[in-house]
Order: sequence, then structure tokens, then C-alpha cells
Amino acid sequence: MNDPHLPLTKDLVLIGGGHAHALVLRKWGMSPLPGARLTVINPGPTAPYSGMLPGFVAGHYQRADLDIDLVKLARFAGARVVIGAATGIDTANRLVQVPGRAPIAYDLASVDIGITSQMPALPGFSAHAIPAKPLGEFAAKWDAFRNGQGPAHIAVIGGGVAGVELILAMAYALRARGRLAQATLIDSAKALTAIGAAARNRLRIALSEQAVTLLEGAEIANIAPDHIRLNDGREVLSDFTTGAAGARPYGWIADTGLQLENGFISVDANLQSSDPAVFATGDCAHLSHAPRPKAGVYAVRQAPVLFDNLRAILSGGDLRPYEPQKDYLKLISLGERSALGERFGRIIASPVMWRWKDQIDQKFMAKFRDYPVMQQPRLPRHHTLGMVEALGDKPMCGGCGAKVGRSALRAALAPLPDSQRTDITPLPGDDAALLTTGGVQQVISSDHLRALTDDPVVMARIAAIHALGDIWAMGALPQAATANLILPRLSSELQQRTLREIMSSASQVMRRAGAEIVGGHTSLGSELTIGFTVTGLCPRPAITLAGARPGDALILTKPIGSGVIMAAEMAGQADGEWVTAALALMCRPQARAAEILQDAHAMTDVTGFGLYGHLSGICEASDVGADLTTSAVPLMPGAAWLADQGIRSSLFADNRALDPELQTTSAQDLFFDPQTAGGLLAAVPAGQADQLVEKLRKSGELAAQIGRITDRRHGIKLI
Ligand SMILES: Cc1cc2nc3c(=O)[nH]c(=O)nc-3n(C[C@H](O)[C@H](O)[C@H](O)COP(=O)(O)OP(=O)(O)OC[C@H]3O[C@@H](n4cnc5c(N)ncnc54)[C@H](O)[C@@H]3O)c2cc1C
Repeated sequence: MNDPHLPLTKDLVLIGGGHAHALVLRKWGMSPLPGARLTVINPGPTAPYSGMLPGFVAGHYQRADLDIDLVKLARFAGARVVIGAATGIDTANRLVQVPGRAPIAYDLASVDIGITSQMPALPGFSAHAIPAKPLGEFAAKWDAFRNGQGPAHIAVIGGGVAGVELILAMAYALRARGRLAQATLIDSAKALTAIGAAARNRLRIALSEQAVTLLEGAEIANIAPDHIRLNDGREVLSDFTTGAAGARPYGWIADTGLQLENGFISVDANLQSSDPAVFATGDCAHLSHAPRPKAGVYAVRQAPVLFDNLRAILSGGDLRPYEPQKDYLKLISLGERSALGERFGRIIASPVMWRWKDQIDQKFMAKFRDYPVMQQPRLPRHHTLGMVEALGDKPMCGGCGAKVGRSALRAALAPLPDSQRTDITPLPGDDAALLTTGGVQQVISSDHLRALTDDPVVMARIAAIHALGDIWAMGALPQAATANLILPRLSSELQQRTLREIMSSASQVMRRAGAEIVGGHTSLGSELTIGFTVTGLCPRPAITLAGARPGDALILTKPIGSGVIMAAEMAGQADGEWVTAALALMCRPQARAAEILQDAHAMTDVTGFGLYGHLSGICEASDVGADLTTSAVPLMPGAAWLADQGIRSSLFADNRALDPELQTTSAQDLFFDPQTAGGLLAAVPAGQADQLVEKLRKSGELAAQIGRITDRRHGIKLI
């Protein structure tokens, strides 16, 4: 983690979360380089570990066992994660292109994106076959297939070690389920030519033991959903066809202008490409000084050298060379819990080898579990009374955008005199103000958030949507916004990059919402904070908190749980998948939802006070009560589990104090969970509720009817 008192001056961007980069991130977490801002770009929040893939395919491991959680790892490393696939590197301007966002600037970049087993030239492959690489996509599709029903026909194209390991594992898994009808391994030439004769012979025996038919010298004409047609007219039945032939580089690398060897990035002994600002490692790199086959073992061994060299470039040190070993111990799974070990032509095949391989793999994966958790700041020996209580029992999580609690806010605002202006309509409890300007009703609201993710692009999007929530909730149309930014200490170059990212992301959101950013203010502080003041015009009378009627149905347009998930993320306890899903939900604008709910009797956006707090706001202003149906409230993935583990956002206690007498389960505690860029909560005529929810769902909202308004004044009952 960078010391907030020291400026960040260099951007290091890791493209791909492959094995070498995962290890670099881990080492970075243990020994960060002050001043470096680290970014990792990967298509998903996890990166699968190849060594355990055959074991997963065979059914010996769970899917999660082979996933490196890049979100947790990045939290430990103090890196930001960009979920997306790079599509280009502009080496002249030092920018990485990732669709859907402004290009990511770098001072130094490293590429570790692996290879693909796509065979675009093979007719029918793209539509009816699954490449073994990237592994994540393959693993997900295999999981679905093996859990299916009925006799299964499978085929693997490519008779290398990976293809043999895969077909053995697939055949074993299906036989264990009593479903294996036919397994075929197809190679256009001879299988297993890259390993010694003894290993080759033993693997051929394993294939026949698993009843796998090996077709060599077999050219494929085309692939159909349920069979493969060979050039000689034969048909191979296959409902699940996998490609594991060869190692193809990703096509976009060819456009980078970097020197390539057969499409792979040529690197020297220091792992540096033809552009000194770009390193490459793992399968996507070609070691020009010592070419080696594609194997994870090299990616792993390159990691410490890559780590040292990246730091050396950033801090002005000397580079050191990577010397690959001549050969390495190959441990090849045989489907069942047995493996073949080969080195320098000598082999052993036995369950002991499998146990050994399992130990090596588990040891590798253990490096990516259980990172040290964020600690409370240590109290100075001499401190004022009350500091322990004010500090609480956990670090400020920021899961709620580090908001001030409702009670403190109310106490501060209560003594303020009422407005004396006739053009301001008082709206007790509402987050936005209602103004009348030249006969037109206009709403104005201001909101800002301390960054809950290190990615300024995502944070700007969330902050903009959070601020717009007040405008949408009143049924107003966003008009203009000013940005209020606090940037951490950065060199002027990094300030520019960060501002560019924030402003392009925010203006995209605002523009889509119909508003323009017309100005703003930026200052420096200890951490990134993004906020907006937004105005909106009311084409019809503004929807406020007051107006809910007994009998109205309550509709919520987004699941809740962002506070608990982001609190857990900061403590390294939330799965990357959950964090990614929560951020995606926070990034979802509510313009269309507001339009659908334009006839609501009362509406608000669910933010810092949580669902219960905002519903209380409606009940107080409308002088009604509400029944909240616990099981109907949609929750973000992972939120219930984290709540069960006792995880709460820092603002939870304050929100919970609203109704201390209320008995709640841990799932119901989520009603007090502060939300960021949360959904709309609307009281609508009961007769229209089903239709409105259906319309919301059709437009992509995860909306639900979650209760009803009662005439029990101010009382909320959980049912
Ligand atoms: C079935 C099978 C079994 C294997 N078993 C072994 C084994 O036991 N031992 C061994 O040494 N090797 C094994 N291998 C080979 C091994 O998988 C690779 O050598 C190893 O994964 C290479 O690691 P890497 O770091 O280069 O990239 P990968 O592990 O492939 O990781 C690349 C990462 O980059 C991401 N990425 C891809 N495109 C982009 C993009 N455009 N932008 C951003 N990120 C991107 C991917 O999603 C992925 O997370 C096996 C291969 C297969 C297919």
C-alpha cells in the first residue's frame, strides 16, 4: 500500500492475470515500491491455475480450488484491477486499450495473457467447439456439460500432453457418472511427439485403459454440434468438442508493433520486448535467447526475475537475466488419482506421483489464499479520551463511501433555520432540494464518495450514478452537473491521467443521463474522493418522500448488500466474483427505472441509510407504516453469506440505531446496510405493481416487489 503522504509518480500496468503476474502481485504486496501505481487488467475477477485443471475436469477438485482471486490479490498488492480484455497497446503514446473505457496510460507495462486454443480456420469450431484455452471459459462449459444427463460423446482435438491429460480426465469423470459413451482424441499427425518414448508409450496405455480412441493422421473437415466429420468421410460422434491443439498467440498482439516470433512477443533474457517499456512473460512471450515450449512452469520461474526487473526500471536499478532450466519435471494426470512423472526421459506412473503433484499444486495455490487483513491504525500511547470508542472495532471500511451517520447529520441540521425563500419548497428528509426558477421546477442535489475501488473510471461512474440517484428518484430529468474531486498526491503526469479517466467516465454517464458537466473543483487530499452537484428539471410534479398511501406496494429496483460486500473486500474477505457483480450493479444507471416508476406516489434512492432508513424516510414524510417482506428483498451475490459471517459496514451501527428494539436475523441486518448508487424504492398503486416489476425486469433491472405501505404510523414490520 502506498504511503498517502508520498506522491505516486509511475504507472505500472500488468496486462493479464497469468501465473507470472499473479506471483508478481503477491511479491508486490509483500514489498511494494513507493511511488508506483500498479494496475492489473484481466477479463474476469479470477485467473485459473492450469496445473489443477485436469484434476478439476476429472472431478477431484472444485471449480474454486483452481481459481486465483485477482480482486483479493490486488487488494493485498495495493493494485487496482481493471476487469476487461486488452485489445491493443499503443506503444508510441504508452496506452493500453480496453473496450468500454478510456485507454489506460502506463510508464511501464508487462504482458502475461497466455495463449488461445481457438481454431478459427476450422469450419464449425467457433460455433460448436470449446477451446481449452482460455481455461476459465472451458472450465465453466465443462462443468455444465458433465452435470448433464444421458450418454455422453466427447472429443479432444490435439494430441499433445495437454490434449491427452484433458481427454483422460474427461473420460474418467463421465465414466464415474456412468455416462461415457465415446471418447476420441484426434491428431492431424502423430500424438505426443514432444515427450520421450517411455512417457509416450505409458500415456498411450492410459488412453486405452480409459477406452479413449486415438485417431492419428486425421484431418478434420468440419465440426457439427453432435459430431466431427473427417476429410476421409468418417464421422466421430461428439457432443462436447474441445480444441487443445497447438499454442496460438492472441491476434491483437500483432498490431502492437512489438517484435514478434510466430505471433509471440519476442523478449530478451531480461524479459524485455523490442520496446523497453514493455515486458512480456509466460506463454505469450518468445524467449529469443533460449526458446522453450509453452508451459506454466516457465511462467512461474520467470516471476521473480520479472518482479525485480520491473522494479529496477521504475526505480533506476540494474536488470537481471532469466535463465530457463533445460528440462523440467512433467507431472501428467492420468484421469484417476494417478499421475505420470517424467524428467530427462525417465518415467514413474503411480498414485504417489498424483499425491506429489497435488501437494505441489496445493502449495502453489496456498500462496493466493489468506492474505493478512487490513489492521486498525495503532493507537498512540497518549491519546484523548473517547478515541477508542470513536475508532470502533474495525478500520473505516468505505463500503458506504465513508458517509457520516444519520443521527450525526440530523443533529447538525436540526438547528438550522427554515428557508425564508419562497422559491424553495421544503422537503424534510429528502436528499435533493426543490427549487422554482422562472416557473419551472428544478431539483438540485450534491453527493460525494470516498473511493471504494482504486479504479478511478469505475469510481467516477459509481459516484455519478450515486449523485444522479437523487434526481431520478424525484422523477426529474438530469440537467447539469459540477464535479468536486479530491485526488491523492500524484505527480502532475499522473494527475492528468487520473483526471482524464475520471472526467471521461463521468461525462459519459452524465451525458447518457441527459446532463452536461459544466464545471467543478479539484483539490489534493489523502485519498481519492469523487462527488457531483447535479440539477434536474421536473417535467411533471416532483415525486417526493411524502405521498405514499396505505395499500401501496413497495418496489425496489436493485439488490442490496453493496456496503457489506465492499467492507469485506477491503478486509480481503469478499470473493472477487461478488465484488465485480456488486460494482457492476452500482454502475447501473436508473434513468429507465425512474421513467417506468414515474407515477409512483413516493420515491427515494436507497443509499447511505440503507433500505430500512430510506423506507423510514418515506414512512415519516407520508405519515404511514410499512410491511417489509424479508424473503422478497433481492440481495447481491455473497451479501447474505458475508452478513452471516458477522461482517458489517462501518455505518451499520449508526443505521441500526434507528430501531434498536427491532429483532433481526443476519440477513435482515442487510436492511440497515448502507448502499452506494443503490436502487430506487418506490411506493406505487398496488394494482400496478406486478406490471411495473415486469417492465423493470424486461429493461434489465433486478427489481422486486418487497412489501407494502400500511396505516401503522411510522412503524416498519419485518415479515
Ligand atoms: C489442460 C492443460 C493442462 C496444463 N497443465 C500444465 C501443467 O501441469 N504444468 C505446466 O507447467 N503447464 C501446464 N499447462 C500449460 C499452462 O497452462 C500454461 O503454460 C500456463 O497457463 C501459462 O501461464 P501464463 O502466465 O502464460 O498465462 P495463463 O495462465 O494462460 O493466464 C493468462 C491470463 O491472461 C488473461 N488474458 C487473456 N487475454 C487477455 C487480454 N486480452 N487482456 C487481459 N488479460 C487477458 C487470461 O484470462 C488469463 O487470466 C497446461 C495447459 C493445459 C491446456
